Amino acid sequence: MASSSPKSVLIIGGGIVGLTCAVVLRDSGHKVTVIAAESSEHTASGVAAGMIAPALEAMNEADTAMAFQRLKAAQTVWRTLQAAWPQAARDAVVATLAQESDYIGSPEALERLAKTGAPLTPAGEGRMRVRGDGLVEAAATLNALQAHLLALGGEVICDRVERVSGDDVMLADGTRRNAEFVIIAAGYGARAFAGQVPSLACLTPIKGHLLDVPGVAGRGVLRAASGYWARYAESAKFGATMEAGRDDAGIDADIVADLKARAQALTPDVDLSKAQARVGVRAATPDGWPLIGRDAASGVLVATGMRRNGYVFAPLAAQILLDLIEGRATDRDYDPNRFAH
Ligand SMILES: Cc1cc2nc3c(=O)[nH]c(=O)nc-3n(C[C@H](O)[C@H](O)[C@H](O)COP(=O)(O)OP(=O)(O)OC[C@H]3O[C@@H](n4cnc5c(N)ncnc54)[C@H](O)[C@@H]3O)c2cc1C
Repeated sequence: MASSSPKSVLIIGGGIVGLTCAVVLRDSGHKVTVIAAESSEHTASGVAAGMIAPALEAMNEADTAMAFQRLKAAQTVWRTLQAAWPQAARDAVVATLAQESDYIGSPEALERLAKTGAPLTPAGEGRMRVRGDGLVEAAATLNALQAHLLALGGEVICDRVERVSGDDVMLADGTRRNAEFVIIAAGYGARAFAGQVPSLACLTPIKGHLLDVPGVAGRGVLRAASGYWARYAESAKFGATMEAGRDDAGIDADIVADLKARAQALTPDVDLSKAQARVGVRAATPDGWPLIGRDAASGVLVATGMRRNGYVFAPLAAQILLDLIEGRATDRDYDPNRFAH
């Protein structure tokens, strides 16, 4: 639905969060420019498994029921967003989409899973099927979002932003661009703006290795304590490590060997000869939940700190920022100022 008063918005970041915000804002009639330092395939979003998995993610948290509620609420926005896409964009994603996941684990792990309150059904061979824990293929989703944004008349610029304020940015060559609103959706890259946007100072990195495996058939997720297989019909990813405090992009041979051993142990027949290791860096916050909203000191809007759940939270972030830009009251659970002193 078109907003009565279109605003100009600069979005720093072309991963799942920046592109989703851009599509939602453009769809609502705002003038949107995305500035991204690298193409989406080289972002954490391009590396990610693309699981949109409220139950399987919530079972890792201390308060499983609360975490499931929050993640499920975010997932619901995702479904609404996708339903509003034109057919071509929907087809690109739906072709790789799975709607359920299987978990295989100890009785204690299954008990934790049950505590989320998610709908579960036994699926044989010691597996529990989680209905509603879905999966998208990252590249297809990012490409569909970018194509949709360009078709709507949005702009995407490949450049690095060096400095920000509430209404302008300075690019690497010193040129400036201004807009009524600036959004930082730059994943862990957002930490570099903490000097101007204090709420971002709390971000810490979590590096992750994952295996990209062509030729593995099937669709959906098989997850265990040792790792997960995310399968997209003709390829699959096995992951992922959580290396807290690391933000480098180097591939560690020992970690790759360990991932391969874990993949082989979970699925002995799988062919890993063409497996390629990939690395991404997640942005994390002290309480594990995202930063979405307006930085109080600078007026800059932020959407980052999604940790393991950027695909889950991106549409909710877009909705919250749309509300702020259009002057409506909005969800304060993810207030970015909650750690600022
Ligand atoms: C191995 C692995 C597996 C994962 N699996 C899942 C999963 O299954 N499900 C899930 O929900 N999440 C998963 N995640 C987490 C997910 O990848 C992140 O939460 C998500 O990608 C964050 O998206 P983002 O758009 O915030 O940031 P990113 O994808 O990191 O994108 C950041 C963007 O900002 C740009 N940028 C940064 N600094 C600047 C600057 N100064 N100037 C201009 N542009 C800049 C970058 O170029 C990029 O375009 C996984 C992560 C990893 C590493």
